[in-house]
Amino acid sequence: MMHLWRELCWGLRELLYPHEGRCPLCLGRVASDGPICPACKTQLFAWQYRYAPCTVCGRLLPRPGLCRDCRRERPPFLWARAAGPYEGALRRAIHRFKYAGRRYLARPLGHLLNAALEDAATVFHTELPPFDFIVPVPLHPRRQKQRSFNQAALLAAELAALRGLSLADSMVIRTRQTLPQVGLRRPERLANLTGAFAAVPGVTLENRRVLLVDDILTTGATLSACSEALLAAGASAVCAVTVATAFGRF
Ligand SMILES: [Zn+2]
Ligand SMILES: [Zn+2]
Repeated sequence: MMHLWRELCWGLRELLYPHEGRCPLCLGRVASDGPICPACKTQLFAWQYRYAPCTVCGRLLPRPGLCRDCRRERPPFLWARAAGPYEGALRRAIHRFKYAGRRYLARPLGHLLNAALEDAATVFHTELPPFDFIVPVPLHPRRQKQRSFNQAALLAAELAALRGLSLADSMVIRTRQTLPQVGLRRPERLANLTGAFAAVPGVTLENRRVLLVDDILTTGATLSACSEALLAAGASAVCAVTVATAFGRF
C-alpha cells in the first residue's frame, strides 16, 4: 500500500515537474553529486559487507568462492559482474525502466554498469581487458516491438559512451522466440534458450574480446546462450556486466 502511494505521488510529481535532478532509485531525494543520491549509494553498495560475488558468474554468495552451478559446470563467459542484488531500490528502478518505459533511467543505470565493471577490475587485480565490442543481449523482434525498445541496448549504449568503446548492437540476433524465463527452473531455463541466439551471418569475431550487457542475471542462462553464439563466431573471450544479479547457492 505504501509502495503504491509512493509511486502515485511520484507519478504526479513527474507530470508536474521534469524528472531531471531526482535520484532514480529512491525517487524522492535530489541527487547532488552524481546520478544517484548518497543515501541510495550507501544502501546499494551495502551488500559488499555481507556478500561476495561468485568468482565466475558474479551471483552473490555469503562467502568468497564459486557458486554451486559454476562448480558443476563453468559458464562459457569468463566472468560476469553486477552493481548489486536484484532487490529493493535497484529492482524497482529496473522495473520502472523496463516495464514503465522510463527510458531516461538508462543513464543512471549505465553508470551503475560502469561501477560494476570497475569492481571487476578490483576483483581480478588487473586492468580490465581491452574489449573490442560492447554487445547488448538482443530481444526477439516481436518482443521488442511490444516494448518498443530493448532495455539492454539502451544500457549498452550508455556504457559504450562512458568508456569510449564501440557498440555492436546488431551482431547477435535471437533466432527464435523463447518462453519468458520468469518462473522457469534452471534446467528449464537452459533448455528454453539452447540455440536461441546466433551471430548475424557473415560476422566474424576472430580474436575479438566482447563485453555482453544485460539488465539482470538470474541463472546466467541467457548470458551463457548469447556467449556461445559469440564464441561460435570466433570471439576469443566473452565477459558480461548486468545492472543487478541474483543470490547464488554454495
Ligand atoms: Zn536515492
Ligand atoms: Zn557462479
